[in-house]
Amino acid sequence: ASGFVLITGCSSGIGLRIAVTLAKDEKKRYHVIATMRDLRKKDKLVEAAGDAYGKTLTLLPLDVCSDESVKSCINSIKDRHIDILINNAGVGLLGPVESISIEEMKKVFETNFFGVVRMIKEVMPDMKKRRSGHIVVMSSVMGLQGVVFNDVYTASKFAMEGFCESMAVQLMKFNVRLSMIEPGPVHTEFETKMMDDVAKMEYPGADADTVRYFKDVYLPSSIDIFEAMGQTPEDIANCTKKVIESSSPRFRNLTNSLYTPIVALKYADETGGLSVNTFYNLLFNFGPLMHITMSILKCLTCSCLRRRTISPN
Ligand code: NAD
Repeated sequence: ASGFVLITGCSSGIGLRIAVTLAKDEKKRYHVIATMRDLRKKDKLVEAAGDAYGKTLTLLPLDVCSDESVKSCINSIKDRHIDILINNAGVGLLGPVESISIEEMKKVFETNFFGVVRMIKEVMPDMKKRRSGHIVVMSSVMGLQGVVFNDVYTASKFAMEGFCESMAVQLMKFNVRLSMIEPGPVHTEFETKMMDDVAKMEYPGADADTVRYFKDVYLPSSIDIFEAMGQTPEDIANCTKKVIESSSPRFRNLTNSLYTPIVALKYADETGGLSVNTFYNLLFNFGPLMHITMSILKCLTCSCLRRRTISPN
């Protein structure tokens, strides 16, 4: 792998770290076009890029929710040539569905789903013409398995998984690769932003029991899980680098081996009962001990399933 890499959402978190990791590649194989909605937020990236800034890393504005922004960004690149497109920009949404307006839900789909579709539509035709290219999509474990109180976020990632699973077949005919990266929890501003939003929430329309399950059962378990099982943006950047450097990149790439059993439950019982009941028990019967239960689950799962993750090391 080498060449021009365009990454969306580089002002923070995973996007920032992928940009810096690729720009600092020891063999200088990549020219990174790090994009962000608002270039006023560039300082953290510029600082982290150090000497690479202006050499193997350049900055461009790009809002994945705007047709014009996406078009003008891609048109400003020499010959519109992008070898690797990394769709990273994304937003979270947490809470009881009753309390969330349809407008807020649409915003999540506008970024997480249509944002990716917009990018792929703009970049894919040139890749198809050249019969080469690699499209990477930052999905999530929540693109494969539903998670309580993350209903809309999960749906947006599922939508993208379905879109990409369909696209991958056609793209293969044009020698264009498509890969999903599916991290579990990662310590970034994503988590902090969601928790801030939750603190401000007033839960209009949700009954007292639902609010209690969300605030007193789900949230503490979720914080516990982030602490116990969270990966770092560096981990995800290393996994992504491995995926783009693989001679035959896989379509699906879970980054956290603790999550393979959870995803496997779905395939082990096609009725869905096993996964729904397991999640019910994890949340309502184990609560804060959820990570211990998941570790036990991991031990019980055969090693062939564990090998399916991509390791950051
Ligand atoms: P983050 O909030 O630090 O980064 C998301 C980035 O996307 C931000 O820089 C934000 O400004 C940008 N963004 C949002 N809307 C945009 C738009 N319209 N146009 C351009 N950029 C926009 O969080 P992160 O954890 O680094 O998230 C990156 C990706 O990883 C997301 O797609 C997220 O769904 C996914 N992910 C995160 C986690 C996690 O636990 N943090 C887990 C699995 C997957």
